[in-house]
Amino acid sequence: MPGVNPRTYFILQSLQATLLDALLPPRCAACGQPGQRWCPACQVAAPRLRLPLCRQCGEPLASRTRATLCEHCRAASPAYHGAVAWGLYGGSLQTAIQKFKFQRDSGLALVFSGLLAEAVQAQAWPLDTVVAVPLGAQRLRQRGYNQAALLARPLAARLGCRYPRRALVRVRETRPQVGLSRPERHQNMAGAFAARPEQVRNRTVLVVDDVMTSGATLDAAARALLAAGARAVYAATLARAA
Ligand SMILES: [Zn+2]
Ligand SMILES: [Zn+2]
Repeated sequence: MPGVNPRTYFILQSLQATLLDALLPPRCAACGQPGQRWCPACQVAAPRLRLPLCRQCGEPLASRTRATLCEHCRAASPAYHGAVAWGLYGGSLQTAIQKFKFQRDSGLALVFSGLLAEAVQAQAWPLDTVVAVPLGAQRLRQRGYNQAALLARPLAARLGCRYPRRALVRVRETRPQVGLSRPERHQNMAGAFAARPEQVRNRTVLVVDDVMTSGATLDAAARALLAAGARAVYAATLARAA
């Protein structure tokens, strides 16, 4: 549905999910029990982040530390001003995300966006715009959809933010990050994105992805948005990989 505003899209998406559920009752993406897309028991069992967290990247810190920044942020400050994740990448959250990655399920995206909206609202960031981390053209062709966009759009509606499509674009293909070291990941993602100044200038932007690992992708996205004139950039992901 190109060109539809996030609020209308959200209503249509909710309606579609309700109709689909009536025809074919959903099963939990993690345990497979019928009834809900991600059942309350699996949500409660999902691993969460233990405080304290790095105030910039959101990484869990040692429990008795006085530091407010993790070692990575102390060594090199990321371009985004803050980052939040709903949970840790593991257990029932990992199973549900993996299903979401390989099976287009906008009903599951609605459940995820509700949880993530609460985590973002708790940060009280002054957001007005939401963008998704774009997939490379090749990956998009293979998968047929971008799971980050599927999540970001209903999230924008819940947060009352704009959702300008194609405000952030990938300008070159990158190799998969799996197996790369932290510096290699940053090198791999450097300059991978560009943003449209007319969409993001003077805006406070939230970049959304499904999973954050080293933060290299979100850092590269934030750099592109700031280079295009964004006032500040924050990041939100469903999960954070340890
Ligand atoms: Zn379940
Ligand atoms: Zn940090």
